[in-house]
Amino acid sequence: MTANQLERVWAECLEIIRDNVLEQSFTTWFKPIRPVKLEDKVLTIQVPTQFFYEWLEEHYVTLLHKTIKRVLGSDSRLEYAIVMANPSPNANGPLTMNIPGNKAKSQNPELNLPGSLNAGTTMNPFVIPGLKKVQIDSQLNPQYTFDIYVEGDCNRLARSAGLAIAAKPGGTSFNPLLVYGGVGLGKTHLLHAIGNKIKEDFPQKTVLYVTSVNFTNQIIQAITKQTIQDLVNFYLMVDVLIVDDIQDLNGKEKTQDIFFNIFNSLHQSGKQIIMSSDRSPKDMQGFNDRLVSRFKWGLTADLSVPDYETRLAILTLKMYKDGVTFPHDVVEFVAHNVKSNVRELEGALTSILANASLNQKTIDLDLAKSVMKNLVKEIHTDINVTNIVQHVCNFYNLTPEMLQSKSRKREVVQARQIAIYFTKKFTKLSLKAIGEHFGGRDHTTVIHSCEKIEDFIGIDKKIKAEVEDIHKRIKLNLI
Ligand code: ADP
Ligand code: MG
Repeated sequence: MTANQLERVWAECLEIIRDNVLEQSFTTWFKPIRPVKLEDKVLTIQVPTQFFYEWLEEHYVTLLHKTIKRVLGSDSRLEYAIVMANPSPNANGPLTMNIPGNKAKSQNPELNLPGSLNAGTTMNPFVIPGLKKVQIDSQLNPQYTFDIYVEGDCNRLARSAGLAIAAKPGGTSFNPLLVYGGVGLGKTHLLHAIGNKIKEDFPQKTVLYVTSVNFTNQIIQAITKQTIQDLVNFYLMVDVLIVDDIQDLNGKEKTQDIFFNIFNSLHQSGKQIIMSSDRSPKDMQGFNDRLVSRFKWGLTADLSVPDYETRLAILTLKMYKDGVTFPHDVVEFVAHNVKSNVRELEGALTSILANASLNQKTIDLDLAKSVMKNLVKEIHTDINVTNIVQHVCNFYNLTPEMLQSKSRKREVVQARQIAIYFTKKFTKLSLKAIGEHFGGRDHTTVIHSCEKIEDFIGIDKKIKAEVEDIHKRIKLNLI
């Protein structure tokens, strides 16, 4: 088997996989895989890390096996080779290692700090001089923990990576971990949660949280007082360095230089670095290229806007934390209308609560609506699974229960497939969540339904017209 043939076989597999997973998952979990050999119907694929392999086995094992059997026949098998993606500073490409966790140690030629690194004095910039602390205070907020960090599709990768790091700080290939996402999506919370968990499970480790603004100020002060050396020495004592909002280092060349050096030294001695940013590394302007390339050494994981179910779960947890209970329709109303970020979601709940107690009103849907009018510019009549089902049912004169039923009647099956197709098209629900909305069907049914409708649109004029008509009704919300 030539390398070309191997690539072709794998390309064929990827094509099938791509049709069966969300684009985001495809990019995250399948694009980085490299085929390495195919012998006696055993296909060996190379994955970047142990965690990656475990994730594939946990979430995609069936899909992978089915795909390989389809391409290579029923007696084919799959094996993994794991690679440490931690590059040696002297090489550009990833370093291939057979033993996961066996990290390369090498001299870092770029370590070029002003003055000697071995100077004995260290200054803690977090304490007022004179009040010397023996132990470094982590600056963590103990309230931000994993227990109250709701898991959803929007944060699954970042959260799992965070937990993996917390179990083995500096010992996974997620070093550094860079979490990025828009404002209020939970970056700071996650960073603190990782730090808090490490402190709890490894009390001997020094964890330090710092915002980039604070870090920059410390550097400016140290430059003025000529104590840069002390500052650097202080940072080099840390086992886990957490830097929030690194986009704020944008354009600050000197600070970036010093951070670059601290980063290299810590990384080289197996210390964990965790960062957050409001944008992905590829969109980081005003940054030194070599620093951005360091950011990509480990894992870059994004946080996205939570879907409806996750928003509900976050609200429920928030009520529990605050010791309040809102009527269910109020919670649903809030989850439905506040979708930009978690901070606003929590803010809406607080506003309703404050309004009710100030004006001595009971919390009900009317109150929620009036409070929310001031909060959100427009109460969205947004597209969700409920109104999609409603439109499809109206069109075909069916009931929502019929779509969820096991009925195999042709018109019911087709209407169900169309509703599933639109739910996939218009909502951010996962395949699994969509299946659950339609009578607990599994994700393969969802994929099959979407394919079916796409096929019909291509070949059946009547269905094409119906789908277009329903599409319009959903868009305009003409009930
Ligand atoms: P960011 O740093 O991305 O701007 P934060 O971490 O400050 O966002 O989060 C904003 C608020 O939303 C915080 O109160 C945080 O506790 C809460 N929050 C964010 N994500 C979650 C989540 N997945 N589960 C529970 N609360 C969350
Ligand atoms: Mg933040």
